[in-house]
Amino acid sequence: MKTGKTAQTIAAANGIASDAAFGAVTPPIYLSTTYRFPGFKNPGSYEYSRMSNPTRDQLADTLAQLEGGCGAVITATGMAAVDLLLATLDRGQLVVAPHDCYGGTHRLLSLRAAKGHFDVAFVDQNSEAELTAVLGRRPALVLIESPSNPLLRVTDIARVAERSKAVGAKVAVDNTFLSPALQQPLALGADFAIHSTTKYLNGHSDVVGGAVIAADPQDLKGLEEWANATGITGAPFDAYLTLRGLRTLFPRLEHQQRNASAVADFLDRHSCVDAVHYPGLPSHPGHATAVRQQRGFGAMVSFNVKGGTDGARRFVEAVKLFTLAESLGGVESLVAHPATMTHASMDAEARRVAGIDDSLLRLSVGLEGEADLLADLDQALQSVASLPDRAAP
Ligand code: PLP
Repeated sequence: MKTGKTAQTIAAANGIASDAAFGAVTPPIYLSTTYRFPGFKNPGSYEYSRMSNPTRDQLADTLAQLEGGCGAVITATGMAAVDLLLATLDRGQLVVAPHDCYGGTHRLLSLRAAKGHFDVAFVDQNSEAELTAVLGRRPALVLIESPSNPLLRVTDIARVAERSKAVGAKVAVDNTFLSPALQQPLALGADFAIHSTTKYLNGHSDVVGGAVIAADPQDLKGLEEWANATGITGAPFDAYLTLRGLRTLFPRLEHQQRNASAVADFLDRHSCVDAVHYPGLPSHPGHATAVRQQRGFGAMVSFNVKGGTDGARRFVEAVKLFTLAESLGGVESLVAHPATMTHASMDAEARRVAGIDDSLLRLSVGLEGEADLLADLDQALQSVASLPDRAAP
């Protein structure tokens, strides 16, 4: 959906001052579940809020414009957005997903595959051999997550999309970690962009929601039908809050990624840190790809702390400004221990294959002052200084 407006203007102003009833500057919220039929067999533009709702449509329209899609379906959660895509698959069809995707996505795919709804293959999409082998099985859907949660691995979206589409697969990119402010998967060749709007799009850790944005009107129609049939559409109140959060997406992310870059540099130099995973670091294996396909490096930073599980426990118990909590993308800084939190639903072997070990910590860097964030990390890292270095393999 192209309007000729800049993305910043779309985020800040789409739908502003469009209220025909009273001239409200902020688009009003429509909580009504049902809408009057003007006449027999003659519905108006809205009938029933599970199918469609003006407030939800306002958010869908704004996200579709930001992602460059033809439309969007707003779902109750990010997982519901992933599941909406899965609803379109037939028994026996193959879904390809990254071996290090978000733990909840891994769990959902595994549970549905175990029920026989479709087949799933988890692969390292950066491995030429693995990608070639799995595309040889002619998948119906290839799911990409870039940068990945929690290791911030970067996948070359244009390359994987081109190769997947050449064998007839649809391509979906989970764009949660960057948002359309920093990456537009549809412009890189994907058919769908998926979001947990819970994260950067809402940005205030007070709404759980999701979205699927489609490039093709036929695909969009299919998703809308499934969303209505299964009833996974999001609540109007959540859409209203998410739209409010979206107004400040660009300045929030700009500031947060500046903080994140400072955090990554700081951790990279620290003697109590074994490895830092941040695509903005030139040493990151996906740095060159990130420079090419992203407009910024985002505000998520992961690192392996010295001392394994002990080091991770000491660190999360010592931080004061960072809060130990699931989720990400809000204005406040959070720390998570993926192995026992966000990725605990993956079995130990799947975590090992994905590279998620017990020393890994994931930071969602917020809007606080840079000096305060670095000071908090520094004092927390002092608590692990006395632990032994990682044993040589
Ligand atoms: N995709 C990614 C990359 C996520 O990090 C998450 C949640 O953390 C989800 C999807 C699921 O979103 P939600 O928690 O809104 O269901």
